[in-house]
Amino acid sequence: MSEKLNNYLIETLPQQHQWVTELEAKAKADNVPIMDRAGIHFVMQLVRMSKPARILEVGTAIGYSALRMLDANPDSSIVTIEKDKERYEEAITTIDKLNRQSKIEVILGDALDKLMELSLQKNTFDLIFIDAAKGQYQRFFELADPMLNKNGIIISDNVLFRGYVANPENVPKRYEKMVERLRKYNEMLMNHPNYTTSIVPIGDGVAISYKQS
Ligand code: SAM
Repeated sequence: MSEKLNNYLIETLPQQHQWVTELEAKAKADNVPIMDRAGIHFVMQLVRMSKPARILEVGTAIGYSALRMLDANPDSSIVTIEKDKERYEEAITTIDKLNRQSKIEVILGDALDKLMELSLQKNTFDLIFIDAAKGQYQRFFELADPMLNKNGIIISDNVLFRGYVANPENVPKRYEKMVERLRKYNEMLMNHPNYTTSIVPIGDGVAISYKQS
């Protein structure tokens, strides 16, 4: 999406809570990548409409998207995984400070291990949000899929990665492998027999995959 269009979408958003603005500022100051405003607003709308009882998030960072998803549907409970200890601790502190600790469980560790553990413990979820290492989306999906209930949704962020995924001729060398993996991931989603997927060019590109069987 053009910068102008994205800026317009962000300008149109209603005023947000003070804690949201503060958390966004903190992420910016500490160079922590969080979902952009238009993207998270869209994800929140999906949460509001689908009212998932249980949400699983891969990639907590400092807890921004988990807190915002909970805001969109306060009846949800969220399990979120983060492998970076400093970010994990930051997320816990903020979640406690906002008194949401009974609704959001943050797990420290590599999602590739933790997803397996959650699955072995027979956890199930109604919505799964994938927003971690982009080169591993396929694996995250494979591990998360068995835990998603029928009629559930998998949301994958960054699937258009700065527009490069749709424009593979102009990818800087350092991103080539990741972009190729994201292209394969999108292709898998679009052709998956159990899911219907729509890719929306908002933020960095958001794929919404609905599990119909
Ligand atoms: N969802 C967050 C938000 O919008 O507020 C942003 C998440 S940030 C884009 C991605 C996070 O995933 C980083 O904090 C990174 O440390 C974490 N991450 C990357 N690979 C991971 C993995 N294999 N397991 C767990 N966390 C991972």
